[in-house]
Amino acid sequence: MLKVFNTLSRKKEDFVPIKDRLVSMYSCGPTVYSFAHIGNLRTYVFMDLIRRVLKYDGYKIKGVLNITDVGHLLHDSDDGEDKMAKASREEKKAPLEIAEFYTKVFFEDLQKLNIGKPEILAKATDHIKEMIDYVQALEAVGVAYETSDGIYFDIAKFPDYGKLSGINLEEQMAGARVEVNSEKHNPSDFALWKKAEPEHIMQWPSPWGMGYPGWHIECSAMSQKYLGKSFDIHSGGVDHIPIHHENEIAQNEALTGQKSVNYWLHGEFMLVDGGKMSKSLGNTYTISQLEQRGYAPLDFRFFCLNAHYRKKLNFTFEGMDAAKISRERLSLSLYQHKLSATKTSAEILEKYRTQFDDAVNDDLNIPLALGVLFTMAKEPRSVDIYTLALTFDKIFGLSLDRLSPPEQPKQDIPAEIADLVSARMQAKKEKDYSKADELRKLIASKGYTVLDTKDGFIVNKID
Ligand code: AMP
Ligand code: ZN
Repeated sequence: MLKVFNTLSRKKEDFVPIKDRLVSMYSCGPTVYSFAHIGNLRTYVFMDLIRRVLKYDGYKIKGVLNITDVGHLLHDSDDGEDKMAKASREEKKAPLEIAEFYTKVFFEDLQKLNIGKPEILAKATDHIKEMIDYVQALEAVGVAYETSDGIYFDIAKFPDYGKLSGINLEEQMAGARVEVNSEKHNPSDFALWKKAEPEHIMQWPSPWGMGYPGWHIECSAMSQKYLGKSFDIHSGGVDHIPIHHENEIAQNEALTGQKSVNYWLHGEFMLVDGGKMSKSLGNTYTISQLEQRGYAPLDFRFFCLNAHYRKKLNFTFEGMDAAKISRERLSLSLYQHKLSATKTSAEILEKYRTQFDDAVNDDLNIPLALGVLFTMAKEPRSVDIYTLALTFDKIFGLSLDRLSPPEQPKQDIPAEIADLVSARMQAKKEKDYSKADELRKLIASKGYTVLDTKDGFIVNKID
């Protein structure tokens, strides 16, 4: 039986979907005004793991992922510059061109990471009418009000406000910043629709004049359209718990009067060198940047699988090196199993299968499941081990069916690279790991990877 940690109840719960074998699931998607960074991508690996575990357990899924191409504001409070508008100004391109470009790159990244696309991909700009209808419906039930700059949700009319994050509104109000919009009834009231200044780039006609939707209404309008008033799972990163998801609940439940999402699943953040990832610190890496440094995208997926989704994961290049080496060793070992015609007893296989199933069904304990695979790989060589590893790979998504032979075909390594490789080996012998790392990076910048193995190293040309 699958158990998941539900943010709403703060407990691990048995997973029981509304419809017997069909799971309805909504995941907050990217705002397509720049490249997704590795932190964002950790959250989509997490989404993918939920989907893979459900499929492994025999469920069908109706999954929705939204693409925010309207551009929401730079701050969660309803002010600041529109992100799409900013990118559009900086890149001198029309907002929709920006959105199209980054959406394409986003899906390429997902593909590189073996992240399956949800069944429904919903672009915000295709659902403006649904959002306007939703705001009107909220007005009709008396929880929205108009100010000179937009339509706002009146949180005082929704007594359950705060139930997901457990925030105490009174405390929050007492500590609230100086309110910029004095027409709001309550500092935490949030915009459902904003009236646009004439120069605002993305705007649509509405009953309230030209304007654009608030961010939260986008997810409510699209999830309810495709999944109905109540659905099974909503996923996203932990940063969305206190505002975005709280506001989605308020909108949905004020309108329908029923519980909108049964299981809220949130993935923890990725840190870089123990701290926050931010553009100004220059540590928001993309998948392409990792590739340029000689890592395969699946090394990054493997790196993510080694931490439980509810734990913070600290990204370092040492960690990536370890992931790369560990994945390579696993691949070599499984390849050797693949070549062996020997059989493994049914009891041994069953033991691993049970351990694996228990791990993945215990709130997606993928690190533990990986441990089972590593232990299993140490069994005497047998094709049965390889076959069972492929079954496990339905969840890991590491392309274990595409293992390359352990005996690398001879390649011509240029003398310059060979010298750098020997210098690196020497540095390692002298335990000068920072020099060794520098040399590895230099080798990567010249188009080669060097991979440590038990018996030495392998040098490869990057394709
Ligand atoms: P955004 O495009 O900013 O809405 O982010 C897309 C997704 O990435 C959201 O689900 C965020 O919660 C998630 N996210 C943003 N930063 C990080 C991070 N450092 N680690 C993990 N997930 C993140
Ligand atoms: Zn959302």
